[in-house]
Amino acid sequence: MSAVFTNSTLSSFVRDRTYSGTVHNVQLLQPQLSAVEQYWAAWYAYMANDVLATGIMFFVLHEAVYFGRSLPWFIIDQIPYFRRYKIQATKIPSSKEQWHCLKSVVLSHFLVEAIPIWTFHPLCEKLGISAQVPFPSWKTVAWEISLFFLLEDMWHYWVHRFLHYGVFYKYIHKQHHRYAAPFGLTAEYAHPMETMTLGLGTVGMPILYVLYTGHLHLFTLCVWISLRLFQAVDSHSGYDFPWSLNKFLPFWSGAEHHDLHHHYFIGNYASSFRWWDYCMDTEAGPEAKLAREEKMRARACRMAKKSS
Ligand SMILES: [Zn+2]
Ligand SMILES: [Zn+2]
Repeated sequence: MSAVFTNSTLSSFVRDRTYSGTVHNVQLLQPQLSAVEQYWAAWYAYMANDVLATGIMFFVLHEAVYFGRSLPWFIIDQIPYFRRYKIQATKIPSSKEQWHCLKSVVLSHFLVEAIPIWTFHPLCEKLGISAQVPFPSWKTVAWEISLFFLLEDMWHYWVHRFLHYGVFYKYIHKQHHRYAAPFGLTAEYAHPMETMTLGLGTVGMPILYVLYTGHLHLFTLCVWISLRLFQAVDSHSGYDFPWSLNKFLPFWSGAEHHDLHHHYFIGNYASSFRWWDYCMDTEAGPEAKLAREEKMRARACRMAKKSS
């Protein structure tokens, strides 16, 4: 029996032999719920096993969003018109490169990410992450996701910077840097240790949040993970359009920021925003290098004047 409704007997009451039949029953008996809430509740009631329902939902969501978002970038790579927006215009990924990356990412999804996905619901129950309907208000969802973006970015900056040191780079992070000109699919092309440590920013921050506040909804996590996947795939797309988000939100990193990281192998360590690299003086690229050198020269001049 599912715990998706506050009244637990309701889930077995609405359950039908088919998912569409269950949706129909929920629509009849719970008309006050939104359409998304009705489909959500029907899924849990139909499955009658919350662990399996959450596991399958998260796995399918991850695959659908990741590959669904990578596909348009793959198509764009085949159309010469879009070369004018390609950041490293001469470096179009070959079919062989794309195929190698696809195989590796699929394997990693099944081997590395399948296990945490299947054990996620019991963890949620322990932590108090709710899967019940109705969902929290959009205001709550928006505020929590904004906070997760900020916290994940901070985690990503420091862990990523750390992964560029000596043995950590050699044995872990080097795999992700195989492609100096990234493409959408390369977002999760990484060593399993990297997937786990950087992935902790995506999953660990909401866990810290629920430990502190005592409330979080699984639906918020679904939206958060989808948006975070969009951000990761887009930042690896290799394209910077006049309508890209970073043109409207100057603090948003976007593909232009992360492409420079792959190109120069150094600097621009953050994921979503530019402020950590700006404040810690780790911006990548020739312009940032010039500005850094200029700053160092000015400092040296000041020191020389002081001592003379
Ligand atoms: Zn890196
Ligand atoms: Zn990358």
